[in-house]
Amino acid sequence: MTASPAGPRTLLALNWKMNKTPTEARAWGRELAGEYRRGKAEVAVMAPAISLYGLKEALPGGVDIGGQDVSAHESGAYTGEISAAMLRDAECTYVIVGHSERREYHGETDAAVAAKARQAQAHGLTPIVCVGEGLDVRERGEHVAYTLAQLRGSLEGVDERVVVAYEPVWAIGTGRTATAGDAEELAAAIRGALRERYGDLADGLRVLYGGSVKPDNVASICGQPNVNGALVGGASLGVGDVLGMLAALE
Ligand code: PEP
Repeated sequence: MTASPAGPRTLLALNWKMNKTPTEARAWGRELAGEYRRGKAEVAVMAPAISLYGLKEALPGGVDIGGQDVSAHESGAYTGEISAAMLRDAECTYVIVGHSERREYHGETDAAVAAKARQAQAHGLTPIVCVGEGLDVRERGEHVAYTLAQLRGSLEGVDERVVVAYEPVWAIGTGRTATAGDAEELAAAIRGALRERYGDLADGLRVLYGGSVKPDNVASICGQPNVNGALVGGASLGVGDVLGMLAALE
């Protein structure tokens, strides 16, 4: 079962993180192309920037690509950064902003995340804005308020061409998955916050869940009324797991 027929099409957003060389990425794309059949869920692969171009050429038609981060600046003296225009030229549709690993290891604030999301939109990319609480916040029972505050800060000046991913930090790469009920609780709260900001357009926006999603739990999570897909790290690396998740979503 996937998200309600009236809502947006389910999105399986794959986050490879810092994995796969360009050669490995192309091989992965070709392997997927050999097996892929367009189905109920849409697929997008967020690969390391250096692999995007070759990956897109190898992927089957209808599978999108995206970056894992983007500069808030237009161009110029920002060594090591990748601009939104570069991602767009490499045929990206999406870009992740504010992943918890960027927030934790690179000190990205909500304001910095919002600036990146605005820059992405200015170049026709759809930002996937990540929010979610750590274990300490969850244990204090403050996860809804914390996540919504983070969301509001991360959407400052961002228009409705956006995807939100709720990723509780304690569930990322830990094998510890939130229950479908936990995912729905936050997805519904996020939808409410999106409605405050974007009005009725909020009903057509995607809210994803991320955190140890795999073939055996993807359907129950994405079957929740306010969950429109998943952001997947570990289980995105093998073509078999991706096909397994797509089969589960049919
Ligand atoms: C992620 O990287 O966004 C993620 C959810 O990772 P994992 O699926 O491995 O928990």
